[in-house]
Amino acid sequence: MVLPETSSCGCTFADTSFLTGVCGANFTLFMGLVEYLLRNQCDITDPCRRFGAKTAPNRAANHYDFIVVGAGVAGPVVASRLSELSEWNVLLLEAGPEEPSITSVPAFSVSAIGTSLDWKYTTEPSSQACLSTGGRCKWPRGKMVSGTSGMQGMMYTRPHASIFDEWGKANPGWSSQDVLQYFIKSENNLNPDLVDPGYHGFSGPMVVQQFPSRPPLADVVVEAGTQLGYRNGDLNGHNQTGAAVAQMMVYEGLRASTARMYLRPFLNTRENIKIAVNSQATKILIDPATKKARGVEYVDQAGNKQTVYALKEVILSAGAINSPQLLLLSGVGPRKDLEAVGIDVIVDLPGVGRNLQNHVAGSIGFYMNEASTNSLTLESVEEFIQNRTGNMASTGLTQTTLLMTSKYAKDGVSDLQVFFNGYSAKCSKSGASEECESTGSLQNCANRRLQARPTLTIPESRGYLKLNSSDPLDYPLIYPHYLESQSDVDILVDGIKLSIQLANTPALQKYGLVLDTTPVKGCENYVFGSDEYFACAVRRETGPENHQGGTCKMAPAEEELAVLDNQLRVHGVTNIRVVDASIFPTLPNCNPTSVIIMAAEKVSDLIKKAWEGQALERTV
Ligand SMILES: Cc1cc2nc3c(=O)[nH]c(=O)nc-3n(C[C@H](O)[C@H](O)[C@H](O)COP(=O)(O)OP(=O)(O)OC[C@H]3O[C@@H](n4cnc5c(N)ncnc54)[C@H](O)[C@@H]3O)c2cc1C
Repeated sequence: MVLPETSSCGCTFADTSFLTGVCGANFTLFMGLVEYLLRNQCDITDPCRRFGAKTAPNRAANHYDFIVVGAGVAGPVVASRLSELSEWNVLLLEAGPEEPSITSVPAFSVSAIGTSLDWKYTTEPSSQACLSTGGRCKWPRGKMVSGTSGMQGMMYTRPHASIFDEWGKANPGWSSQDVLQYFIKSENNLNPDLVDPGYHGFSGPMVVQQFPSRPPLADVVVEAGTQLGYRNGDLNGHNQTGAAVAQMMVYEGLRASTARMYLRPFLNTRENIKIAVNSQATKILIDPATKKARGVEYVDQAGNKQTVYALKEVILSAGAINSPQLLLLSGVGPRKDLEAVGIDVIVDLPGVGRNLQNHVAGSIGFYMNEASTNSLTLESVEEFIQNRTGNMASTGLTQTTLLMTSKYAKDGVSDLQVFFNGYSAKCSKSGASEECESTGSLQNCANRRLQARPTLTIPESRGYLKLNSSDPLDYPLIYPHYLESQSDVDILVDGIKLSIQLANTPALQKYGLVLDTTPVKGCENYVFGSDEYFACAVRRETGPENHQGGTCKMAPAEEELAVLDNQLRVHGVTNIRVVDASIFPTLPNCNPTSVIIMAAEKVSDLIKKAWEGQALERTV
């Protein structure tokens, strides 16, 4: 629901409210109060610097130098960098509404999943994975300014150098040495004492630092990692493997989305940028004779079809599902698939929608010898409102991560990232410190449960997506092909065993961790703890890690699945680039947002170099 506009902070902004709906009827009273209190903090709502606010420039023109599609992670970076040149007009189209205030609070960082702010994709049935849900996996994707980063855990990690060095072999300019400058350019690291200085930036737009608060167990998990032989240190420096309380994209206690860090500061000062929210691009207009992009068709918030023209370029930043979908809708993709849904082929490009990759997780649970009380208390709400610290200022144990090597890891490169659940603020009924998690009861709480999610970060399996029909509002068909390679299963099984070893370290045994041996439904016939059992468990309860990428692969034209050249221009057409998670030839072996920001910084420089100094063309 969209709450009525409030003007107590001097400006108005249509903020999407959903917390009470997400928590359910039993929790309405307290969660309604929490939401009300948060939405009355002017620095949280920030209404004078919001897209769609009355203060935003409202340009009626339909010609822009650059049209950027998608205001997720990459789009705001590109729109901000290109609009640094005052003579360039930039339009940023976003299918969803402005980023809501509530999702910027770390405790509620993933709360928009399943709401109207989520595209709510579901994959096509598979016989290999997600079997407990009929072979279909849920893929949440953000439909709002900030995109999927508006519903994610804020963790800032960078991949091993060898991932980029492999990219760079086929794509000049993308080796680890080449891209480091763009990580540095984007970053403003506020923990200089914790990081390798040569690898970090201290004056870029994206603020990176640890959360101000964490449960004591976060440090214990890191200590447990060191007892298994992993170092505790900067995971984003010279050595990627290790255990750490992670660096986060967080600023003054709130999510540092790229929309907030790169664009909001300039909304009221740059006349040359327009951001259109609730505006879904449906097609890129490409001249069939010249193969040159001319503009974009979109459906505006009133449901009307609109056309805007690009004098220079169209840049797709619609994410790993929607960027390839838009290319396909525009006639760029595998001929057979396009003809099957009645779309005229402009360029036969077999790689569009192919090379789909995602990280995928197993899961193993432990009980602790303490009661599972809720971290969201009245005191924590007060503390957050006053100081931006406390339980609400973090994601609990999820802020700890281990980048590990399975016994199959090659050359010491981490192939497993372990995430943890526990101690995160959940929906509360009363705000009382003795309230039990999830149930809202004030007595007889169950024992606290700690969940480890070992995640395969270098998958071998590859999937694809294709159009279901020529209707641009129809969802594409997604075939992730999870766990089709046996080696992916083997690594996950090893990851589960490593997680059990972690729980058995002296550090964690002080907390009396006990393995939950309840068999996963459908795996009862295997001996609990055997490789066969764990293989069954990961196939039944497969955890997609939401790090989808690869569907517009950057590779030289002669490669079979190539979609983009090394300047992220679409092969075979002129004036269309793509920058988002779809460009990855292979996935980063960690959370990917830092890499998307880096790529957006790099492509902005490439675009500037390509057009700077050239006379403005004003004819379409
Ligand atoms: C639960 C969860 C937790 C995660 N945790 C982390 C984490 O801690 N750290 C991390 O690094 N990564 C994390 N991720 C992954 C990360 O959020 C994504 O990889 C990243 O957001 C992808 O960025 P993108 O720019 O490619 O696409 P998106 O962020 O998905 O942005 C695409 C944008 O384009 C818009 N769009 C799509 N189609 C159209 C259209 N036709 N017209 C106009 N606009 C359109 C979308 O609405 C969206 O705003 C997590 C993801 C999830 C779901």
